[in-house]
Amino acid sequence: MKLSELGEFGLIERIQTRFRAPDGVTGIGDDCAVLPQSTGRDTLVSSDMLIEGTHFLRKDIPPYDLGWKSAAVNLSDIAAMGGKPTGTFLSLALPADLDTEWIDAFMHGYADISERFGTPLLGGDTTASPDRICINVTVLGECPYARARLRSNAQKGDVICVTGSLGDSAAGLKAILKGVERDVEVQRLIDRHYRPVPRVPEGEELRLNLGVHAMMDLSDGLGSDLQHILDASGMDAEIDVSAIPLSLALKHCCQRFGWDPLALAVSGGEDYELLFTCTPQAEALLTVPHFVIGRVTDRAHGPARLTWRGTSSPLAPGFDHFKKGK
Ligand code: ADP
Ligand code: MG
Repeated sequence: MKLSELGEFGLIERIQTRFRAPDGVTGIGDDCAVLPQSTGRDTLVSSDMLIEGTHFLRKDIPPYDLGWKSAAVNLSDIAAMGGKPTGTFLSLALPADLDTEWIDAFMHGYADISERFGTPLLGGDTTASPDRICINVTVLGECPYARARLRSNAQKGDVICVTGSLGDSAAGLKAILKGVERDVEVQRLIDRHYRPVPRVPEGEELRLNLGVHAMMDLSDGLGSDLQHILDASGMDAEIDVSAIPLSLALKHCCQRFGWDPLALAVSGGEDYELLFTCTPQAEALLTVPHFVIGRVTDRAHGPARLTWRGTSSPLAPGFDHFKKGK
């Protein structure tokens, strides 16, 4: 079988079957691994890779933004658990003909986001690459014992919420690839693609509310990511598509260029907003900005089912690295 048939998540599952996490440890399958410590706190660890040509185009992304984004997408996985990030490790594989100015600008962006979230760079690895730039970041974080919000804890009757508008990043990428003229609104979408802001304080605040049950960050697209929560929790869900928050910039640009905002919001990915489920009572008391977009329902039968209310057009799930992409 080719990898393209197995898909990214099929491959992860195949890898996972060979390894069992030690008792009390959450291993493969969530946004971070969760490792209880003798101090009474849990250590959170996550790792994410960015490859030239797959995640970014060197000629398009300013190196400062790439440095920022490399750390941001990792910090977002700590936010997804409700954790506090504590430090990062950065591994770089770089072609020898790369200008040092490029690397300085990359590190400038990486340093700025590290300072903003109080996450010092603690180590990493550096090596030569034949042609493409490869970046791998590992992030460490912590949270009180057993308080990390897993994907597996969505409960029947929970409402489903997101912390901000969806689809901007995907529209920004589309604008970059199509080379459309960059007015203020297009630039806003591109900024959300190049310089996502991980929802770290929001995640920590959500963790303090015990009615917040399951949480993850939106990296592959709402359709695919919510499916992970449903699979892990053994639940079904309904989403009201008219409740999915769309920014004005997204609406205007979609109108101008004839793009489908809903498709971008559902399957686009790289929003790095938090997706969480909580009791309606808890939702009423939340001070973190959020939008209710649906609800968790009991599993009818078979695999977890996600129903989209308010649209007749079929919605593609999300991004898979080995299957046909965006
Ligand atoms: P995220 O989008 O939150 O970064 P991914 O979809 O990349 O999460 O990964 C899902 C889960 O699979 C995570 O727990 C991640 O650590 C794990 N994972 C991904 N690739 C591998 C791998 N090659 N070996 C072990 N675990 C992996
Ligand atoms: Mg994640």
